[in-house]
Amino acid sequence: MNKTILIVDDEQDLLDLMEIILEAEGYNVIKAINGKEALVKISTSMPDLVLLDVMMPIMDGWQVLKNMRKDARTENIPVVMVTAKIGIEDKNRGLQEGASDYIGKPFSPKEVLSRIKSILQQD
Ligand SMILES: [Mg+2]
Repeated sequence: MNKTILIVDDEQDLLDLMEIILEAEGYNVIKAINGKEALVKISTSMPDLVLLDVMMPIMDGWQVLKNMRKDARTENIPVVMVTAKIGIEDKNRGLQEGASDYIGKPFSPKEVLSRIKSILQQD
């Protein structure tokens, strides 16, 4: 069965672009425009991986990650954080809080695809 990826970003253009790219690779794609919507879609759809923007209104990526890791149903879903500021502090924080990987913005679609593929092959 095709894997399902939830893309979370407050930039609609980026959501649409990633949807096209990931669907072309055979993934099922779900989208959320902020963290609150992301949590709802995670619990209803149980995606195989979440591509999670850090800076978003209403609820940011850190809060989403924290919520996912507290919930036994979602604690093992891989999360790839996508962030414009990718300092060492952010990396450490993300590792502590259970992110699987990081991608800096702006990113190349090829890079995102290869990271996603390698994470999904691990399980
Ligand atoms: Mg953002």
